[in-house]
Amino acid sequence: MSLKRFEDIIAYKSDQGITAFHARNLEVADVSEEIYSQMTSVELKSATVPSFNALAGLDESESFRALKAWSDEQNPAVLSGHVKFGIKSLTLNVTQICNLKCNYCAAGGDGTYGEAINKVSVEKTLPQLKFFLESLKDGSVFNLSFVGGEPFLYPQAMKVIYDYVLAQTAGRKIECRFMVTTNGTLITDAVVEMLKTMRIYVTVSLDGTKEINDIVRPSKSGRSSTDATLKGLKKLVAIRPYLESIGIAAVVTKQNSEIKQNYLFFKTLNVDWCEFNYAYAERDVETQNKYLQQMQEIAEIAWQSGGEEELRKIRTINAYFDVLDSQQRIENFCGAGKSYLMIDAKNRLYTCPWLVGEKDEIVGENSVIDYDKLDKYQKPLIELNNCNNCWARFVCGGGCMYVHREHTGDKHLKDELFCERTRGLILLSILYYKRARAAA
Ligand code: SF4
Ligand code: SF4
Repeated sequence: MSLKRFEDIIAYKSDQGITAFHARNLEVADVSEEIYSQMTSVELKSATVPSFNALAGLDESESFRALKAWSDEQNPAVLSGHVKFGIKSLTLNVTQICNLKCNYCAAGGDGTYGEAINKVSVEKTLPQLKFFLESLKDGSVFNLSFVGGEPFLYPQAMKVIYDYVLAQTAGRKIECRFMVTTNGTLITDAVVEMLKTMRIYVTVSLDGTKEINDIVRPSKSGRSSTDATLKGLKKLVAIRPYLESIGIAAVVTKQNSEIKQNYLFFKTLNVDWCEFNYAYAERDVETQNKYLQQMQEIAEIAWQSGGEEELRKIRTINAYFDVLDSQQRIENFCGAGKSYLMIDAKNRLYTCPWLVGEKDEIVGENSVIDYDKLDKYQKPLIELNNCNNCWARFVCGGGCMYVHREHTGDKHLKDELFCERTRGLILLSILYYKRARAAA
């Protein structure tokens, strides 16, 4: 095992030398063999800080003093990750129905979350959004994501809402960002024309080549969906100058674990980015090991084919590079209940998209928020989830509460597989970050 740790510093030895990372200061550096030898071997799955067993005279050595000095250092450039309550990001279920039936669907198995709703009420949604927009301070960035079900089953609502938000914020110093996540099968010519009038970030859900995508993402009637998605994607790529970006989000499961092959396929589709999201319910350890192994191979292919630019097209790596570049600590994996809320197609509010349909998880409706219910979300997630010994805490931010709950029964009891996977991806990003900065 080549991962070692001393207090808040980890180091990894590879054919690229020894790369070290300072967990609090978010610094990446080369260290010498001597310094590395002072550190204790740890497992990727471990968040325990090893105690330092001083060998005779070792703690008096120059390399130990250098290591200790770096560990004790406080970097004033590092930005606090503390987040105060203030809703700046919303996700809206435009529909709660879908024309596909993906076999891992977390939205009730069929996009309905257990309650089929064809169309969100625009009449109710506009005043609800007005309420949130009015509470924004000047200088804010406001994010609105359209999802479903399949949102393009009701595209008209998206356009009305988009225009309304821009009209409401006109003349105020507020930057609005709009996103949509779609299965890409309903990109009609009318949708194309509509999208040309919207500056929007588009995410297309596609899990891989036709062979696998048809199995995991069939239509509602069990037929192939891939040709329709690829056709839709092609139409989106053709209007790329009108859009903010186009990306592909793939879900990884035991059944669909050949992600290197899928990555090579996605590279041919001319999109801006892709991501491989590990299925929230996947528990298979071998699949996870294969996933981490293939993510390493994918990173190397990206690096060899286009350096940092190509690596950043893998969205997870891009996000971690941004954290390291900005030295912005992340104390919250997501803004659930602090800066983010989910609106279902009946205008009820939740802290997370995957909680839609769970009555106990409703935290408001229309323009009424249950602040008492939100109170328990206000501490930093790394504190609520007891992540203080984890070397990856200020890059990860405490993990996904929904995944934790799915695996342990408690939002704040961490899923060990999630932690090992996340640390693996963060470590991979750190290694390439050092290479990228050395090449710059
Ligand atoms: S949830 Fe994230 S920060 Fe917390 S222990 Fe796991 S990997 Fe570390
Ligand atoms: S808890 Fe997880 S699924 Fe829910 S909003 Fe946060 S990151 Fe997303």
